[in-house]
Amino acid sequence: MKKKIYFDNNATTPLHPEVAKAMLPYLDASKELYGNPSSVHMLGQETRKAVEEARAHVAELIEAHPDEIIFTSCGSESDTTAIKGVAFQAKERKKGNHIITTSIEHDTVLFCCDYLHRLGWDVTFLPVTPLGIVDPEDVKKAIRPETILVTIMHANNEIGTIQPIAEIGKICKENGVPFHTDAIQTVGKIPTHVNDLGVDLLSLSGHKLYGPKGVGALYIRKGTRLHPLFHGHHERNRRAGTENVMGIVGLGAACQLAKKNMKEESAKVVQLRDSLEQGILEKVSAVHLNGDKKNRIPGTSNFSFGYVEGEGCVVMLDLEGIAVSTGSACASGSTKASHVLRAIGVPGNLAQGAVRFSLGQFNTKEEVLASLEVIPKVISRLRSLSPLWADHVAGVETRVTPPTTK
Ligand SMILES: *Cc1c(COP(=O)(O)O)cnc(C)c1O
Repeated sequence: MKKKIYFDNNATTPLHPEVAKAMLPYLDASKELYGNPSSVHMLGQETRKAVEEARAHVAELIEAHPDEIIFTSCGSESDTTAIKGVAFQAKERKKGNHIITTSIEHDTVLFCCDYLHRLGWDVTFLPVTPLGIVDPEDVKKAIRPETILVTIMHANNEIGTIQPIAEIGKICKENGVPFHTDAIQTVGKIPTHVNDLGVDLLSLSGHKLYGPKGVGALYIRKGTRLHPLFHGHHERNRRAGTENVMGIVGLGAACQLAKKNMKEESAKVVQLRDSLEQGILEKVSAVHLNGDKKNRIPGTSNFSFGYVEGEGCVVMLDLEGIAVSTGSACASGSTKASHVLRAIGVPGNLAQGAVRFSLGQFNTKEEVLASLEVIPKVISRLRSLSPLWADHVAGVETRVTPPTTK
């Protein structure tokens, strides 16, 4: 089978071979690395050591202290622990019940906030600019005496725009409000340091930075109060469950690699993304780039192809061996326009035509060139089936808003 071209790195990344190598001994019983890290004997101490080394690597990448890192099963668990954990402890201490977030968060954050809202919490969903940026002034205005948490993502998974987290962090600190950021799309791609950002809680996930699936971490600044999601003694009472040693070792290795290689890898990915983008804008008409062209994480490019259904485009490109997405992986299967694109005011018909290309470290120049041969053909084939496109070509456009280029 021909090798696939994988442009869906925001959904998940392939495991880095070096990470796999670090994990393999933990699959091999003869290596005697199967002990429970909580066990007192030597076998337990071996895996305890591995878990603590990984914790140090995670901490180092985000410039935190290892004691401030807990391991979780995924990014969603990290987000949920941060949000529910702070909300429930505030309830116990009879503090306020108000949470501030944005309308472009990942579903796990939005669903969590909706859930808390149903249980009686008050939630403010802040709007974003047409480029997808939150105004720190809006955060300032939304804070009330009863605000117990602000949760705003570092970069958006669909359009890639980076939020002014450091500015928001200052505002939260001035007001004494705990601040959580979902940094799952930035850790390993751009410098993401907890003190520079001024965050109290930060989520990251292994499989978004060339580590394994099924492992994540949550940074909890010393002194931040929160309840656990799973109750028990592990992770100093902050997350029960016998540690996923192999996954944790993988996450540690991925963070170590990211620290070493981030600068050059990100520069390479930016270059690939830009040449793909330029090629598409040159070869395809009636196409619009969504989000902020400048203020963006390296690999992400979200296009709205006018007169095309994003879902159709994803399926056709897949048949050609190119894996892309309409937005977040979690939203696929539904033809509902993305909540992110609606929040930045992309008109319905263009939001339906959105396709996300997310490039990563393992993509090549050859793949970009090959896909630039395929993409224009796929778009014109889809358009040839569209009566709206026929109207557009005939100059009798009445039914859709014409897209703007660039
Ligand atoms: C992928 C992702 C998540 C969820 O992480 P999982 O490890 O898949 O649970 C949350 N937020 C953002 C921004 C993501 O990209």
